[in-house]
Amino acid sequence: MLIVKKFGGTSVANKERIFNVAKRCIEDYNKGNDVVVVLSAMGKYTDELIDMAKDINENPPKREMDMLFTIGEQMSVALMAMAMNKLGVPAISLNAFQVAMHSTSVYGNAKIKRIDCERIRHELQNRKIVIITGFQGVNKYDDYTTLGRGGSDTTAVALAAALHADACEIYTDVDGVYTADPRKVKNARKLDMVTYDEMLELATLGAGVLHNRSVELAKKYGVQLVVRSSLNTNEGTIVKEGAKMEKMLVSGVAADVDTARVAIIGLKDEPGVAFKLFNALAKNNINIDMILQSIGRQGTKDITFTCNIADADEAEKVISDTMEFQSIDVDKNVAKVSIVGAGMQTNAGVAAKMFEALYDENINIRMISTSEIRVSVLINQKNTERAMNAIHDKFALGEEK
Ligand code: ASP
Ligand code: MG
Repeated sequence: MLIVKKFGGTSVANKERIFNVAKRCIEDYNKGNDVVVVLSAMGKYTDELIDMAKDINENPPKREMDMLFTIGEQMSVALMAMAMNKLGVPAISLNAFQVAMHSTSVYGNAKIKRIDCERIRHELQNRKIVIITGFQGVNKYDDYTTLGRGGSDTTAVALAAALHADACEIYTDVDGVYTADPRKVKNARKLDMVTYDEMLELATLGAGVLHNRSVELAKKYGVQLVVRSSLNTNEGTIVKEGAKMEKMLVSGVAADVDTARVAIIGLKDEPGVAFKLFNALAKNNINIDMILQSIGRQGTKDITFTCNIADADEAEKVISDTMEFQSIDVDKNVAKVSIVGAGMQTNAGVAAKMFEALYDENINIRMISTSEIRVSVLINQKNTERAMNAIHDKFALGEEK
């Protein structure tokens, strides 16, 4: 078997943990498997690099940031190879250049285009454990790029796809994917399985366990993932295409508190207004999430939308500079609470049940949006945990299915 194993920063944060990871990889190796290991930078090292950079220049060139970032992952892989060597097992570390992990050009948010597998295969044939830097790529200018924060997951999935690996295991500091954040919801339960689509929604909603592009890639290439802890031997959560029977009505509740609501009152009720508004925001790279437009009355209408809290002030300014309206209101004390479940597509009444849970708690819903497998509501931020717990209880997510 060829196994790709990815370990996050907490799993390699110190000497003891590095040896722990080395031993887990060696176990698989000793069973005769080919083992490819992908590592993140140790602990919070990437954050430390950002602090160092900002101390020199508060607006560092993105190319140089990527150049700096790559040393974090490079440090982990070299130390891991040394640890395995110390344990008497042949291992070799490779960075994105040595593998040749080709990416698009964008610094700080590159996408992997193609991976040359020759060098990796060659080292595996020589019975070495191959340890590869996560998070980085090389662009057409022969510069280092990075894949965006948390991007090592994506490196692992891309490698698993390119090498046609038999297994892709993502090791982290939690036991797997939960029905809700266990720090917020007391009955949260680990899921045995989630579908790619559910995981994608959960990752995008900020569940934090997997880089969302890694899930997209896994779905595209049919790479089955398992998310599990590096600190114990519990089973973890499998991420795969769901068979019909397995699709759960609702598999999780997530909350995003980094959201803001912008309401524009008294826009002209005529063609092109929404286009002008959202075009101006897009040109300023402001991503919009939920959108609500009121029914026109007396020649005016209102448009309300949500965006990341970090973009809210800029959004207000852009709108004030480009649009005609009566007033604008920005509210940063909101949260988006969502339920995700692949079974929703074929079942009526899921949204109603969620709204009922909120009604029972006397929590007002300010906006609603849905996809085929998700229902999201915008509420006051102070009610976030109460809402999550109420919804989690309503769907009995804490109980074994
Ligand atoms: N070290 C990078 C980060 O902290 C990549 C990763 O951990 O996946 O974002
Ligand atoms: Mg991560």
